[in-house]
Amino acid sequence: MKKLALHWKILIGMILGILFGLVMTIVDGGGDFVLNWINPFGSIFVKMLKLIAVPLIIASLIKGISDLKDISKFKNIGLKTISIYIATTVIAITIGLLLVNIVKPGEGISDETIQKLTETYANSSGVKSKLSEASKQISNGPLQFLIEMVPDNAIKAMGNNKSMLQVIFFTIFLGISMLLVGEKKSKPLKKFFDSLNEVVLKMVDLIMLFAPYAVFALLANVVVSSNDPDLLLALLKYAFTVIGGLLLMITFYMILVSFFTKKNPIVFLKQLSPAQLLAFSTSSSAATLPVTMERVEEHIGVDKEVSSFVLPVGATINMDGTSLYQAVAAVFIAQALGFDLTFADQLTIIITALLASIGSAAVPGAGMVMLVIVLEAVGFPADKLAIGLALIFAVDRPLDMCRTVINVTGDATVASLVAKSVGKLHDNPLPKS
Ligand code: ASP
Repeated sequence: MKKLALHWKILIGMILGILFGLVMTIVDGGGDFVLNWINPFGSIFVKMLKLIAVPLIIASLIKGISDLKDISKFKNIGLKTISIYIATTVIAITIGLLLVNIVKPGEGISDETIQKLTETYANSSGVKSKLSEASKQISNGPLQFLIEMVPDNAIKAMGNNKSMLQVIFFTIFLGISMLLVGEKKSKPLKKFFDSLNEVVLKMVDLIMLFAPYAVFALLANVVVSSNDPDLLLALLKYAFTVIGGLLLMITFYMILVSFFTKKNPIVFLKQLSPAQLLAFSTSSSAATLPVTMERVEEHIGVDKEVSSFVLPVGATINMDGTSLYQAVAAVFIAQALGFDLTFADQLTIIITALLASIGSAAVPGAGMVMLVIVLEAVGFPADKLAIGLALIFAVDRPLDMCRTVINVTGDATVASLVAKSVGKLHDNPLPKS
């Protein structure tokens, strides 16, 4: 019998997880059972993926750069990547703004609902923690992100998954220096990292064997810990505006893929699907990164010289789904609370949502923290911020799951475009076992 493809296994795991979660919400003590006995397996899986993220980035980036043989190629790839990332993010925000201004989801929401949402969430620990995290970010200067990108201790940077950009910085520095000392002198180091790279990719394969069971656990947990269904229904128009925008983004990526890489976009999506399904289940582009890299290199055919740089950088700074969501959410909150936004305010949203999505960590819920910065930039009253966040809190997790899929798809699309432009997109990649 033909073996079931991985994406089908993951999809079945997800569906069974949702069904199991639904049953457990009815059963007495079911929620606690899922929390104590099922969810830990999902958490272990996410930890395993994060565990290999740093070694994978280092090994694969060193391999990518040292295979280049020439630094000017790296400059070329770097400039293209950053420009396309910025362009796609601006397009995502613009789509979000257009949709939210046309659909006006905030205007349909009654005062009663606003009051109920405010009572339920404005003082909740979830909203409070987002606000306090955001206030830490706001107190930083404009060039703080540059300072933060440069580590003062390489080992410390490698010891913290949140310091992904610092690890990338150190690794690029090391890789370029390896190119500069020449092949002969850097050979032992290169051999070491090439071998590490092979081994870490094998670790990704092994972890993925567990994926269908892990997504079952993750989704069962999302279902049992989700919010009051009535409140979710009240926010349906807003949620659909975000999801509609995200679907438009997927369509946009498909056009880019078919136009620039001449690849069949449906095949592209199929090849990427295990990474997308994981992004949906974990709500974290960082946790999904090892799988995204494996799919993009071994299935879509992007050469390591490109993917090893484009994907880790993308996971940290390119978040089209998040930026689109931030634009829609900011305007939705303004509409619902009767706060007028001028055209200049909407332009401010484009700039701040771009910066906010670059600054958002690739972990669940990070987009909502940075949304506070977007709201502050358009002069939203500080005393109403908690109410604003309370309005969208109930649907944040499902929307986070969806926007993370777009974040990952955007990275893979840009990796393919850049690879094609430098002649590094292979037609028939050979997936390893
Ligand atoms: N969860 C998203 C990611 O990891 C970030 C966010 O939008 O909250 O890509």
